[in-house]
Amino acid sequence: MAQVSADTSLALQRIDNAQQLVDPFGREIAYLRVSVTDRCDFRCVYCMSEHMTFLPKRDLLSLEELDRLCAAFVRRGVKKLRITGGEPLVRKNIMWLFRALGRHLESGDLQELTLTTNGSQLEKYASELKAAGVERINVSLDTIDAVKFRAITRWGDLATVLRGLDAAEKAGIKIKINAVALKGVNEDEIEDLIRFAHGRGADMTLIETMPLGDIGEDRTAQYLPLSMVRAKLMDRFTLQESAFRTGGPARYVTVKETGGRLGFITPLTHNFCESCNRVRLTCTGTLFMCLGQEDAADLRAPLRASDDDTLLDTAIVEAISRKPKGHDFVIDRRTKKPSLTRHMSVTGG
Ligand code: SAM
Ligand code: SF4
Repeated sequence: MAQVSADTSLALQRIDNAQQLVDPFGREIAYLRVSVTDRCDFRCVYCMSEHMTFLPKRDLLSLEELDRLCAAFVRRGVKKLRITGGEPLVRKNIMWLFRALGRHLESGDLQELTLTTNGSQLEKYASELKAAGVERINVSLDTIDAVKFRAITRWGDLATVLRGLDAAEKAGIKIKINAVALKGVNEDEIEDLIRFAHGRGADMTLIETMPLGDIGEDRTAQYLPLSMVRAKLMDRFTLQESAFRTGGPARYVTVKETGGRLGFITPLTHNFCESCNRVRLTCTGTLFMCLGQEDAADLRAPLRASDDDTLLDTAIVEAISRKPKGHDFVIDRRTKKPSLTRHMSVTGG
C-alpha cells in the first residue's frame, strides 16, 4: 500500500472524525457497486472475449464476506448498494446475499438495494428479489431482434430475457433498460428500443462503449458517439430536457411522443466526474475508487486479517482518501487497445 503523506493523514483524520466517507474533493461516498462474480452466461462482444479466463473460485470472497464488507460501507453512510457482475444472478446461492442485505433496508440505514442484470435468470428470481427489498433493477438489453441479440451476446436467448422482464414486472419491480449503442449493430434500432421500453413503462438509458479490457476485437469499430445518436433521434422524437437525476452519471430527457424518460451516459464525450459519489468493489475484495483509473485498494486482506472490523474500516477510509478527481478514458487509435486492461465484468459497470 502507498506511503501515507502528511496531507493524506490530515484528510484521513477529517474523514475518520466525520464517520461519513468523504473524499478529498468533498464528495460524499453514498453509493457502492458490488461485483459478486466475474462469470457470466453471456459473452457480449463489447464486454468479453469469447474465451475468457475467469478467476479461480478460491480467490472470490464468500457471500458472508461480501455481506460483511457491504455492512462496513453502510455503517459509514453508504445509502445505495447495487449488485452487479459478471452476471450477479449466476452466482450460487446469491439470494442469500440479497436477503442478508435486505436487513439494512429494514433498519433504514440503506435506502436502496438494487441490481444490474442481463435478465437471463430473472424469471427464476424476480419474486425472491422483490421479497428481499429490491424495488428497481437495471436490465441490459441492446436489441429486441432475436438474431442480433444472439450475435451481440454470443450465448444469450432473447425470449428468455423477455420472460424475465415480464416476471420482474409481475413481481412489481420497476425496470430500467440499459442499451449500449453499437456502431452498425443496433444504431438503426434505437428508436424501436425506446418505444419498446417506454411502451412497457420502463425508463431507458443509452450507454457509449467504454474501452475497458481486451475483447479480442477493434474497439474503435464499435464506438458510436451518443451525440450522433441523439441528433438522429431528434428527427423522430421531441426530446425535452429533464432535471431528473438518479445520482448516477446519466443525463435525462423526456421523450414527448412516448412520455418516457431517456438517459444518456457518455463517458468518452462528457466528463461526469464532478458529482461522482460512488466506488466499486470487485468479487475479490478490491475497491476501485474510479471506473476509469487503475488505482485500487485491497480490502480482502484487512477483512480476513481479523474478525473485528477495525482494520477493514481503516483500509476503507484510506482508500477513499485516494479517490481521484476524475478519469481519462481513451481508445488508443494507433494500437486500438483500450486504455484500461480491466474488463467491465470485473468492476461491474
Ligand atoms: N451482466 C450484467 C449486465 O449485463 O447487466 C451486469 C454486469 S455488465 C458488466 C454491466 C453493464 O455494463 C451492462 O449494461 C453492459 O452493457 C455494460 N458494459 C459492459 N462492457 C461495456 C463497455 N465496454 N462499455 C460500455 N458498457 C459496457
Ligand atoms: Fe455478461 Fe453483462 Fe458482460 Fe454481457 S455485459 S458479457 S451480460 S457481464
